[in-house]
Amino acid sequence: MNPYTIFADIIAGAAPSSKVYEDDDVLAFMDIRPVTPGHVLVVPKVAAPSLADLDPALGGKLFQVGQRIAAALRESEVAADGVNFFLADGVTAGQEVFHVHLHVIPRTPGDGFGL
Ligand code: 5GP
Repeated sequence: MNPYTIFADIIAGAAPSSKVYEDDDVLAFMDIRPVTPGHVLVVPKVAAPSLADLDPALGGKLFQVGQRIAAALRESEVAADGVNFFLADGVTAGQEVFHVHLHVIPRTPGDGFGL
């Protein structure tokens, strides 16, 4: 499989993104096609095409960062009243970008989004 994904370019700074969080291991940025306002993607900086390739400790860190972003979305102007975490692993599950990523999807009453 071609290991290249647009997320590699975003991580390298070669493609633009609206970053909301970054540390040595993880980057979080706004989804280019948000399903609700404030939809964020949390990605490991080391490419892992699928869940099976992801170091579990790094997976834990993705979740930890997702938790912090979820809390921030509740306090921000997005005023999230709830949050969905979503991770698609594999084509059948709807994965389109083969670099593991956690969707953090803020919810507000009547936002019309259904998982
Ligand atoms: P998947 O279906 O693989 O779980 O989700 C891929 C996500 O990546 C989609 O929500 C899509 O909108 C987002 N995405 C795809 N290309 C780009 C891009 O170039 N920039 C950003 N910020 N998000 C992207």
